[in-house]
Amino acid sequence: MGNSTKSLRSCFTVILFVKRLVSMIAKHSRPWPPSLPRELQFLDVAARLRVDSDTITMASTDFGKLNREIPAAVLCPFSKDDIVALVRSSYSSSSSVTFSIAARGEGHSLRGQAMAPGGVVVDMKAMGINSGRISVCGSAFYADVGGEQLWIDVLNATLEHGVAPKSWTDYLYLTVGGTLSNAGISGQSFRHGPQISNVQELDVVTGRGEVVTCSRHMNSELFCAVLGGLGQFGIITRARISLEPAPTRVKWVRMLYHDFSAFTRDQEHLISINLNEGQGMVKGLDYVEGSVTSQLSPANNWRSSSFFSKADHSRISSLLATQQHDILYYLEVAKYYDHLTVDTVDGELEVLLSGLSFIPGLIFAKDVSYVDFLNRVRSGELKLRSKGQWDVPHPWLNLFVPKSRILDFDAGVFKGILRQSPSLVGPILVYPMLRSKWDDRMSAVIPGEDIFYSVGLLQSISPNGTTQECREDHHHLGLEEQNRKILEFCEEASIKVKQYLPNYRSRAEWMNHFGPKWEVFKERKNNFDPLAILSPGQRIFN
Ligand code: FAD
Repeated sequence: MGNSTKSLRSCFTVILFVKRLVSMIAKHSRPWPPSLPRELQFLDVAARLRVDSDTITMASTDFGKLNREIPAAVLCPFSKDDIVALVRSSYSSSSSVTFSIAARGEGHSLRGQAMAPGGVVVDMKAMGINSGRISVCGSAFYADVGGEQLWIDVLNATLEHGVAPKSWTDYLYLTVGGTLSNAGISGQSFRHGPQISNVQELDVVTGRGEVVTCSRHMNSELFCAVLGGLGQFGIITRARISLEPAPTRVKWVRMLYHDFSAFTRDQEHLISINLNEGQGMVKGLDYVEGSVTSQLSPANNWRSSSFFSKADHSRISSLLATQQHDILYYLEVAKYYDHLTVDTVDGELEVLLSGLSFIPGLIFAKDVSYVDFLNRVRSGELKLRSKGQWDVPHPWLNLFVPKSRILDFDAGVFKGILRQSPSLVGPILVYPMLRSKWDDRMSAVIPGEDIFYSVGLLQSISPNGTTQECREDHHHLGLEEQNRKILEFCEEASIKVKQYLPNYRSRAEWMNHFGPKWEVFKERKNNFDPLAILSPGQRIFN
């Protein structure tokens, strides 16, 4: 009996082993994708190309969950040499087949921007397994970080040296290469500029397969092209990020408004205080943002799920339930401090916030650690994940609105379109930035005025009940329709908005987006990626 059980067990083990072997061979012995050149098969880099269905599925989708494009293969690069070999095999004149290539950070794009239909997606995260991809020079206030690194890891590594980057995104589980390809904005942008304004140097693999180190003074054309360049000119393998001494704690304050013009007037006042700092005047705030809140966009949401206590939240909800105040706005500010400024921070904050026109009594404050403040979105994300509400479609719309038209935008969109067809569920951000903190030579596109607003409509489609697919489809179309209406409204009212994380289909729309920058953008494309190999998912040159 004992012997037969033993032999049965070994029999099962052998069967299991053979099954695994067969599945592994099947995975790796798929026919060579016809869209990739045969020569590529014989290069070392081919060993790091994956065509198994799990990897292909991962690279065919993104956070937006609105697009699906299937690549022929996914490269898991060990080092930048793999990326160089891949790009050269597409670019080289001896190759008969040119194929497209898209770097993929976390795939947190919304509309397929990191996809490569029929081409190769470079899964940048694979490079992150190598050690030494974040190296901090605290005394010179910079860090060299791999393009695949997450900002949360950059934060943790720099804090060990008592320093930290100056400019952030609200959410830290984004890659350095991914945000630098857009701009990287948050409440610190008014003070330090977007993340692209806080980069000193880059290593880039261009669309010609050349590795180029660039900065404002060395190969500056490529440096400016890549920053905000939507992945069109090269793949960032290293970025040198500017740092500052890290604070330890943060005073974090929100103030409620029902009057939008008072809300924006106060925001504009607060972001302008810092402009006088150089003349020995008062030191301003470290962070300024703002949000619209209504029944469908509750004040506590995944962006910072536990800011308001239960009691405060129900106070705000009951205010929103009255017809008079069905839309409220909250201004959100932060002031950093440490052991040297602990005794003065409250007084300074009081001076900074004095004279503001928020609703009397509706000011809420928290005192949190610097890391908890910067990483405030994470707990909301984990909550949504646990309810199955994170991996859902996200038809977000992000716009830059010129200051001169922000009141019209409020009337037409927040108090107009969103009130009439209330299908938006999710946070709505509204906060101003200063054009002077952006470098116009870079590829990022912003409105022409000195102050402009970032408006983020961060809606998502929640799975609901048994007829989930139907409802999702319906809701999805409703939100797409709403986005279309908003863009049409801006067009008709001549509000010259610029899309952030832009999504266009036609060449004419892209030319309109870039405006006077289009010719330079096109020329740079011709110089650095003449065969239009890179980031086809942006749909600019493909
Ligand atoms: P991916 O989506 O993988 O790639 C984005 C683009 O960059 C693609 O075109 C890709 O080909 C290219 N790319 C990726 N890596 C490289 C590289 N190394 N070199 C060259 N090109 C590359 N943005 C903000 O500015 N502020 C915010 O506060 C903010 N909050 C967000 C919160 C959430 C929850 C999410 C999902 C997104 C948020 N974003 C924010 C948007 C974010 O900046 C973009 O999604 C961006 O694309 C970064 O995501 P990623 O690193 O996953 O890049």
